[in-house]
Amino acid sequence: MTTHHNPTAAHPTSGPLAGRVAVVTGATSGIGAGTARELAAGGAAVALVGRRADRLTGLAAELTEAGAPAALPLPADVTDPAALARAAEAVRAELGRPDLVVANAGVMLGGAFESTDTAEWDRMLDVNLRGLLTTGRVFADDLIAAAADGGPADLVHIGSVASEVVFPDYAVYGATKAAVAQLSRNLRAALGPRGVRVRTVEPGIVLTELGADISDQRARDVLADLRTAFRSLAPEDIGATVAYAAAAPPHVNIAEMVVVPTPQG
Ligand code: NDP
Repeated sequence: MTTHHNPTAAHPTSGPLAGRVAVVTGATSGIGAGTARELAAGGAAVALVGRRADRLTGLAAELTEAGAPAALPLPADVTDPAALARAAEAVRAELGRPDLVVANAGVMLGGAFESTDTAEWDRMLDVNLRGLLTTGRVFADDLIAAAADGGPADLVHIGSVASEVVFPDYAVYGATKAAVAQLSRNLRAALGPRGVRVRTVEPGIVLTELGADISDQRARDVLADLRTAFRSLAPEDIGATVAYAAAAPPHVNIAEMVVVPTPQG
């Protein structure tokens, strides 16, 4: 495991997130990579979780080159609780106690309810829901301890406008995101009184690799139409909102953020 340290910024004193230790799941592409870039630009040390190790190593090098205090690539599958627990140990050992966790890893598959291979439903439930739950769980004690010490502590769930908006052929994906939204509200009630800010960010259309492995042609067409109907967001647009909310004073929780391209309405 290689930690990329920037010797000129080992003890960052500037930036709204200086001194923070962040973890981002699904950092190999899209919103996760964009969020890692924005958090690092704000002065946070960043641990990068995802399955494609080469992408993580490349991003860590890029972030360090750009001035991040530290970037730690941690190849792991979020559906494997033991792997996530090992990743959490590595974060503590290499970067210190994490206080900003972004559960972003997700998959979106679509198709007709009556004929879709139900293995695709399982994949979405495993990553979008079980993986997100496990991510929060393995870092819960760190966040609670960070808050008890008087600092900011954030658990950020990347949901989707699909939690409320109806998209034909994407019912199960929407159901996983609706579950994320309600989970966040309940965790906010449980952990807010202990100082942990639980937050949901619900993006609209963002240009990423999401859906690249959709097998159903009609579902692919729906997605392609959405992505060309207007100018979509870039991953960094979402990353910037994550960084903004994390930089608020500890007593302020920007608890729910819907971030859409303006024409999406
Ligand atoms: P991408 O496909 O670009 O990124 C998905 C990320 O999730 C990748 O880094 C991928 O890494 C990771 N991932 C998938 N499965 C696993 C796994 N089992 N273990 C670890 N990591 C995994 O899509 P987005 O950036 O768009 O998606 C990020 C989040 O944003 C998702 O939760 C998505 O639902 C949400 N979202 C996206 C929107 C959009 O328009 N793009 C809109 C609303 C919400 P790897 O494959 O290397 O493991």
